[in-house]
Amino acid sequence: MKDKLMLMIPGPTPVPESVLSALGRHPMGHRSADFSKIMAQVLTDLKWLHQTTNDVLVLTASGTGTMEASIVNFLSPGDRVLVCCNGKFAERWADMCDAFGLAAERISAPWGKALDPEAVRAALEADTTKQIKAVIITHSETSTGVINDLESISRHIKAHGTALSVVDAVTSLGAASVPIDEWELDVVASASQKGYMMPPGLGFVSVSAKAWDAYKVAKLPKFYLDLGKYRAEAIQNTTPFTPAINLVFGLQVALEMMKQEGLEAIFARHHRHKIATRAAIRALGLSLYAQDDAVASPAITAVVTAPVEAEKLRSYLRQRFDIALAGGQDELEGKIVRIGHLGFVCDRDILTAISALEAVLPELGHTAFTPGAGVSAACKVLTAS
Ligand SMILES: *Cc1c(COP(=O)(O)O)cnc(C)c1O
Repeated sequence: MKDKLMLMIPGPTPVPESVLSALGRHPMGHRSADFSKIMAQVLTDLKWLHQTTNDVLVLTASGTGTMEASIVNFLSPGDRVLVCCNGKFAERWADMCDAFGLAAERISAPWGKALDPEAVRAALEADTTKQIKAVIITHSETSTGVINDLESISRHIKAHGTALSVVDAVTSLGAASVPIDEWELDVVASASQKGYMMPPGLGFVSVSAKAWDAYKVAKLPKFYLDLGKYRAEAIQNTTPFTPAINLVFGLQVALEMMKQEGLEAIFARHHRHKIATRAAIRALGLSLYAQDDAVASPAITAVVTAPVEAEKLRSYLRQRFDIALAGGQDELEGKIVRIGHLGFVCDRDILTAISALEAVLPELGHTAFTPGAGVSAACKVLTAS
């Protein structure tokens, strides 16, 4: 049905009406006092969301642009870096390091499993001459639905002393607590179309004092993504280049909504949606790609659809119910579907997605569950709190 599409993918995510309305305002000059007033509020609220007093800079870029900014500003050609790899986005980081001529060493865990913080600790402890300049870690791995133990890994990075932590928090920021100051995270990248209840187009990078020290000696070339320029302009509550001004209007409203809800309530809602979804999937006789509940991402649940064909399932849901789920990437293509429960998602959305799933599974030949079992399992979780 026209205009009925329900996005249950891990980005872009649904956008509230009030944010959409704010986007439709007439643009204003980004050197104007009016814009600086909005930007001042946005920068303050971003620090609140990031739980930090560090700089949080606003770029007009997708998440990958913020990943690139996190590399080129703090590293030099040939620098040794550790890349924690357990999924598609982590691989993107490793490929990016290769592209910039860094000596990237991969620490891997199988897809669907979390990284072992001890492996990171061992690699860092072996580096007695302090050659490792950064450890790159994807906090919530969107391709598999696994969340890594960032707190422990960050502790090992601090013990090393030299290496910066470079964190992809694209699907954890706004879904799970990422206490930047408490965990002493150096560089944290995220993007508007994930946990921010916003359309794509803005990227965010949080930078610690230690990372700014590294910036001073970093030699990789940069221009548009030179964060020093963004920092200098942020002091004047503006940006070095024309930002996506209307997205900033929307962001102001989205952050206000987040403050109204409160950080703890936001994280609790994502947690509830995660366990409700996982309970429902199990009750429907399907399996979870990330089997260990302790490492399941609060933003996204990957479902192994066998014996049902994943792409057929997605297309049925899309055609019959106007619900979009994400498919698998790379080696997981055709094997899994990914249910996003990130950002502007409420209990009703979870129940809708689960009931639609229940409705189409028998048509696709999967009948090994009691009708109503998925919805019932989800309800049990959603009404318990
Ligand atoms: C979405 C995402 C990105 C960024 O992707 P863009 O398409 O460039 O916005 C990076 N890392 C993770 C973990 C993501 O989920």
